[in-house]
Amino acid sequence: MSGPRMTINGQVLPADSSFGVVNPATEGEFSRAPECSRKQLDAAMDAATRAVQLWRADDAARVAGLNAVADAVDEHASELADLLTAEQGKPLGAAHYEVSETTRWLRAAAALELPIETILDDGSARAELRRRPIGVVAAITPWNFPLLLAGWKLGPALRAGNTVVLKPSPYTPLATLRLGEIVNQVLPPGVINVVSGGDHLGAWMTSHPAVGKVSFTGSVATGKKVMASAADGLKRLTLELGGNDAAIVLDDANPEAIGRGLFWGGFINCGQICAGIKRIFVPEALHDDVVDVLAERARRVRVGPGTQEGVQMGPIQNHPQFERVRGLVAEALSDGASAAAGGAPLDGPGYFFPPTVLTGANEGMRIVDEEQFGPAIPVLTYRTLDEAVERANATPFGLSGSVWGSDLDRATEVAARLDTGTAFVNDHLALDPCLPFGGSKQSGLGVENGPWGLDEFTQLQVVHRPAA
Ligand code: NAD
Repeated sequence: MSGPRMTINGQVLPADSSFGVVNPATEGEFSRAPECSRKQLDAAMDAATRAVQLWRADDAARVAGLNAVADAVDEHASELADLLTAEQGKPLGAAHYEVSETTRWLRAAAALELPIETILDDGSARAELRRRPIGVVAAITPWNFPLLLAGWKLGPALRAGNTVVLKPSPYTPLATLRLGEIVNQVLPPGVINVVSGGDHLGAWMTSHPAVGKVSFTGSVATGKKVMASAADGLKRLTLELGGNDAAIVLDDANPEAIGRGLFWGGFINCGQICAGIKRIFVPEALHDDVVDVLAERARRVRVGPGTQEGVQMGPIQNHPQFERVRGLVAEALSDGASAAAGGAPLDGPGYFFPPTVLTGANEGMRIVDEEQFGPAIPVLTYRTLDEAVERANATPFGLSGSVWGSDLDRATEVAARLDTGTAFVNDHLALDPCLPFGGSKQSGLGVENGPWGLDEFTQLQVVHRPAA
């Protein structure tokens, strides 16, 4: 079989069977990806286990290796972006941006230190805090940002001296498989292994005895399964899960001034973003103005195939998700909400759904209570600020949130009341490799990025000795 292949122990390999990959802009299968067998997964785990000893030994080589990975990805940016657009659906410009953000994150991880800290030195004893690699990391990613989220895991995992077996979503395996082949050129065999297959492959990975740490990004429901499966070996865990982010617009906000940020904070990547705006709370007096600004923007957005010049929003990535968004919107409309823009799918082929701004929705409707993960956002009115904060927090999710207003100090105080891992002011999704990212409540466990994220790929060790 030519075409997409897995990377296992430095070798680029097909599998005995394969599964189809669909272009969401055409609904047509355009490629097939290898279905990793149990035996091949064991081989990847063995290779990763063997590679740890060498990889963990040389700090400078790891920094150089990670930067070489980033360089190699940059060199193949066009090819990777084309694959991303074909399998994920996002506009080509956004796919290029995803590739460049991936290498920005990899380089930031390469620049992190693993300091040996003296934490006790009292004349009778001295204790050092060291950070040791955990071993083999199982890295599992979803279909919305296949390469970027892989980079978030690979960078710190490798920087800390671990090796990785990486599995992309079966909906978007191609760019990640190609990434494996590319980085295989610059890293020792077994340091990064990339396998592809269905959800069962993820379950094999999280229960695999060779794995010391699972780094998972995906839905809350799967995150719970991952946690249960990791319990047996007491594997270390980082879970980046879903969200139902609220944006609270304050009474001193200028709807025109915040319109762009508010709109794209929810609709970027066709709304398929964990930490994107999923509910907008506005004071009654500003409701119509905010809705007008958002709806007017929504109507101007060019929706279409990501390969087409000028397209700003691609299709929803897969058929089940398309049906889910369509169903949530239809249900809200039949329960009394109205669409100020959008509201129904565009003519196919392709899973195209226009940016949809809903008014008159309320708690109790699934579009408000659940994570829609698509291009449809309800605008809800509130009477008092306390009520807005309470309703924003009344969710099992706690990924991020935002507050929008003219008085920055006041907005900042309101933002600090959100029960979320990140709270933005007059922005949403201002992510950076130096900022720890993670969810409170059921949005996750642990954080990624920065020294805090790096720590999660290490085992802290105290080395205690008598004073000299
Ligand atoms: P998903 O949970 O269905 O799948 C994610 C990955 O887990 C896929 O690779 C899948 O094959 C694998 N998987 C499925 N079952 C498994 C199991 N039992 N054991 C191990 N792995 C298994 O999620 P999705 O639909 O691909 O992605 C959308 C979800 O991801 C949304 O809820 C979104 O909010 C979330 N997400 C979170 C973040 C974050 O950083 N917090 C980022 C992006 C997406």
